Amino acid sequence: MNVLLIFTGGTISMVRNAETGALRPADMDTFKAFVPELFMSDIEISMLPFSPFIDSSDVNPDNWERMARAVYDNYDQYDGFVILHGTDTMAYSASALSFMLENLNKPVVFTGSQLPVGVLRSDAKENLLTAIEIASAKNEKGEAMVPEVTIFFEDKLFRANRTTKKNAEHFAAFNSYNYPALAKVGVHIIYQPHLIHYPSKNLPLKLHTKTDPSVAILKLFPGITEPVVQSILSIPGLRGVVLETYGSGNAPSVQWLYHQLRNAVNKGIIIVNKTQCNTGSVEMGLYEVSMNLLKAGVLSGYDITTEALLTKMMYLLGENPNDTQEVKRLLQISICGEITNE
Ligand code: ASP
Repeated sequence: MNVLLIFTGGTISMVRNAETGALRPADMDTFKAFVPELFMSDIEISMLPFSPFIDSSDVNPDNWERMARAVYDNYDQYDGFVILHGTDTMAYSASALSFMLENLNKPVVFTGSQLPVGVLRSDAKENLLTAIEIASAKNEKGEAMVPEVTIFFEDKLFRANRTTKKNAEHFAAFNSYNYPALAKVGVHIIYQPHLIHYPSKNLPLKLHTKTDPSVAILKLFPGITEPVVQSILSIPGLRGVVLETYGSGNAPSVQWLYHQLRNAVNKGIIIVNKTQCNTGSVEMGLYEVSMNLLKAGVLSGYDITTEALLTKMMYLLGENPNDTQEVKRLLQISICGEITNE
């Protein structure tokens, strides 16, 4: 069994400078010295470090392309892939890769840590070693146990495009609020095959690298004014908006909001309703205060995460630059398990 470790950066790959106390990226030899266990199992590990390592706050769609390409280019040589990534934007990158790697049939496990690898109490080692085990795990038929893009952190494996960073302090930094964990890790790794997506046909992996960043997040708040909404919706070239609403997808019933949204939709801007709640789903039409959104042509985001919706929009707009109807259609269905709407 062999696994490719793709290093992008983040806290997991940092060490403390003894003189200044500041965190800096470790070189590969230093990293290996901190985790000698990497080479003690029967899983063969290869390493692909990005240069330079980056803090995940600096990650952008070019980096997503690089990560997806690293998987694609090495797909046949490895049983699975582990991507070491900063926690801050891991849920965005992992969601993006779930869309960019079509027909994925091997595990791609993202992980990171809250404490740098060199720190005595660091969670880096456990997260990394377990992620590697998951990336190489096979079922009784000899097939990959979890052939999806996932995030492993602390003691749970989540579907990538269902995951959100929830905590900047605790070791359990992530959660998947609307879909159960694909595996729970204690003394044993307990997989949940009924929750894991297994492709019905063994189609060749298809790499999608086009994304369009002409999107925005518009978060509603009590007292939001028309100029704020108008200035966002009139951004030149804007093509998609994640509209963060209240509760089950509700918004103020003021007429100006309806007109602003309607005008934007008429101009071809795609607006999708995403609730500000972590758990639960948008249900437009349930309350009168969401009827205006329906009438304005706003689409439902169902129970999708903001990270998955934003990256899905960027991916679909990049892939279908001239076909707004197709983008809208695909936003309303699950492409790789990111929404529940049946
Ligand atoms: N700022 C770091 C990053 O996201 C935090 C982390 O890795 O936990 O790259």
